[in-house]
Amino acid sequence: MAVPQRRISKTRKRMRRTHFKLTAVGLVTCPKCGAMIKSHHVCPKCGYYDGKVQVLDGKLVKEEPKKAPAKKATKKADK
Ligand SMILES: [Zn+2]
Repeated sequence: MAVPQRRISKTRKRMRRTHFKLTAVGLVTCPKCGAMIKSHHVCPKCGYYDGKVQVLDGKLVKEEPKKAPAKKATKKADK
């Protein structure tokens, strides 16, 4: 097993650890409510992702699903 030849001094240890630091989290504004949120995450305030899809309890709720059924209704009316 490899063993260090000599003990690392306090200064050397502390010099190495000067590079251990936290990086700031990249925050963006929510396009729906304007709150500061993490990018590529669901907004914890309003529950929207990318201002388009609402996510509630892990379920996706898409907006404007009315267009597709309306077309089907017109086709049935034509027949
Ligand atoms: Zn939001």
